[in-house]
Amino acid sequence: MDLEKTRTIVITSGKGGVGKTTTTANIGMSIARLGYRVALIDADIGLRNLDLLLGLENRILYTAIEVIEGKCKLEQALIRDKKWRNLALVSMSKNRQRYNITRENMQMFVESIANKGYQFILIDCPAGIDVGFVNAIAASEEAIIITTPEITSIRDADRVAGLLEANGIYNVKLLVNRVRPDMIQTNDMMSVRDVQEMLGVPLLGAIPEDNNVIISTNRGEPLVLKRKLSLSGIALENAARRLIGKQDYLIDLDSPYKGVFQRVQDFFLGSEE
Ligand code: ADP
Ligand code: MG
Repeated sequence: MDLEKTRTIVITSGKGGVGKTTTTANIGMSIARLGYRVALIDADIGLRNLDLLLGLENRILYTAIEVIEGKCKLEQALIRDKKWRNLALVSMSKNRQRYNITRENMQMFVESIANKGYQFILIDCPAGIDVGFVNAIAASEEAIIITTPEITSIRDADRVAGLLEANGIYNVKLLVNRVRPDMIQTNDMMSVRDVQEMLGVPLLGAIPEDNNVIISTNRGEPLVLKRKLSLSGIALENAARRLIGKQDYLIDLDSPYKGVFQRVQDFFLGSEE
């Protein structure tokens, strides 16, 4: 296992508030449940909330900054999930604490996590193109771009796709979030395929708009842990499986009819338990 290469993946977007943290928490949890060792890095400066989504908010004493400054050991900053011990979370900084680290610091930090035997490192990245973004992508070899099917979000995603390529990250996948099949049907929303074609980035998944996302955020319980998965939970789990190459099954939110959703549900629930 030590010889296996760690996959370091940045979860990014052009526009803020499109679902990066939701995706990082849920895909991370899904992959961990499939048996991999997963570390999540919250690199969103000042807007730390990955801990809340995972219900780990009271456990963070040290951050990456203290590790980098030599004030604590990496183990002290890596918080393990209560149940899934192969899932760990580390925050770059405390809330509202500005920090000044270099790309080299970030690369070394990620490397030290990889050396602990983590097979996946997912970096929840700040939106746009500030320092945090540049640092987060400096340490990654792969990226997932999140967008909603709105033109503003897509345009910003396109800029980020360009930046990733300019920084030598060619393994990039797209996740379209907050999809409303009903609005696609009435031509009031771009379809997932339209979004994918506009951006020209391979599709990892599509997540429907779903109130369960908000409920799960408020409870600090990832969607993918629910015994009876919601459609968004299924879609996130589906994206996680595609990411690790387990399957290439894709939920079709563009032409929804009940039968498809039911089949997808049966497929997952049937294969899980
Ligand atoms: P980001 O990390 O990109 O800023 P978040 O993951 O924090 O985005 O999501 C922003 C807000 O949108 C949160 O309140 C979240 O609950 C909500 N949200 C994200 N995805 C969905 C979805 N598919 N359906 C409903 N609400 C969503
Ligand atoms: Mg976020």
